[in-house]
Amino acid sequence: MSISQVIFIITLIITVGVFLFSIYRLAQFFKLTKKYPIGNWGKRISLVLKIALGQTKIFRFPFAGFLHAIVFWGFLVIIFGSIEMVIDGVFGIHKSLKVLGVFYDIIMGFGDIFAFLIAIAILIFIARRISHKVKRFDGQEMTPKAHKDAFLALSLIFLLMFSLLGMNSMEAILNPENSYPVSNLIAHILPICPCKAEGLYTFFWWTHIELIFIFANILPYSKHFHIFMSIPNVFLSRIEPLGKLNTMESITKELQLMMNPETAYEPQENTEPVRFGIKDCEDVTWKTYMDSLTCTQCGRCTSVCPAAQTGRKLSPRKLMMDLRARMNEKAPYLIKNKNYSDGKSYLNDYISLEELWACTLCNACAQECPVNIYHPQIIIDLRRYLVLEEGKAQGGLQAIFANIENNGAPWQYSPTERLNWINE
Ligand code: SF4
Ligand code: SF4
Repeated sequence: MSISQVIFIITLIITVGVFLFSIYRLAQFFKLTKKYPIGNWGKRISLVLKIALGQTKIFRFPFAGFLHAIVFWGFLVIIFGSIEMVIDGVFGIHKSLKVLGVFYDIIMGFGDIFAFLIAIAILIFIARRISHKVKRFDGQEMTPKAHKDAFLALSLIFLLMFSLLGMNSMEAILNPENSYPVSNLIAHILPICPCKAEGLYTFFWWTHIELIFIFANILPYSKHFHIFMSIPNVFLSRIEPLGKLNTMESITKELQLMMNPETAYEPQENTEPVRFGIKDCEDVTWKTYMDSLTCTQCGRCTSVCPAAQTGRKLSPRKLMMDLRARMNEKAPYLIKNKNYSDGKSYLNDYISLEELWACTLCNACAQECPVNIYHPQIIIDLRRYLVLEEGKAQGGLQAIFANIENNGAPWQYSPTERLNWINE
């Protein structure tokens, strides 16, 4: 075994180890959340084909959407070459997957073209962020850290593509029988002799694979985690029509007890008190938490939100970013002690009542989100907590609820007087 193989294997073990630790940490966080039933697998596959692989929602912003789609499709192709590099590194081989023949040449050829296109797309993204004030990239939740995160990931992706093209170009100089359309052109332009190309190939190879390792370990802590999460999130996304409210299991049980009081004296399976709605991060379902990890912070939801656009204090993107932040803040302590409390909560300390009641539940945010996040569920469940546990409904609603309770209708008169209007 060569020294470079040993170094590669050690680097790979460290990378995989750190990555697995990050995933284990997230799995612990998921264990704190509530259940969320899924089914209808056939429809889910068609959602993935249309929304994730077809990028249909992304194209609603044609220019940015097209560039993003290139980056996404390119990653799907280029990952093939990355897998080959890992095999090569471990076994000390050069181009181990070449045995796949024509298929290999086609994939590598497309990977080379995509590397060039992605590099151009990323430069445009960076330039646009610097020179154009894109309104949806700003907002109360977009802190300097969020902007730095975006620049860091864009810069890393550019360096990844640069090193890949550098590697392919050196290969093109060394081996005229290659399958790299763009790198062949670069190789013809570059005044580099084969004697130097070999050393440069090794340099670009190591740079590229180390960048992949670094990037993979930054992702779980960055908004670019959506690179891993978006396809599963679309697959698991809500398939009921937008606007259809889910019923609360705990309330259904309460109602059944009210309708059939004898069952109230039967032993109940679950005697633990159940929280109605959402107060803090551990009250959300695992799918809602997954939504927050998948959010790309693109701001498309906020850009179509009528409340946000009319100056109300509400941003659907902030709901997601705050949930992720709150989970990061509280979950490490909750894992050690499930009764842990820091005196703060997602509701009030992160999401204010003003934000909560500004939502019209129009579902525009969910309709627009390119990764099929369903924001209204959080709004509804936060309101459910307020109303059911704290008895705090918004002004007019309070009167309506009191009337329904007392009169069986939202109006402030007795049910027996309901039809009096006929006589007027
Ligand atoms: S459902 Fe609420 S948060 Fe979403 S777009 Fe409509 S008003 Fe905004
Ligand atoms: S919730 Fe969806 S639309 Fe909104 S910022 Fe996140 S990814 Fe973009």
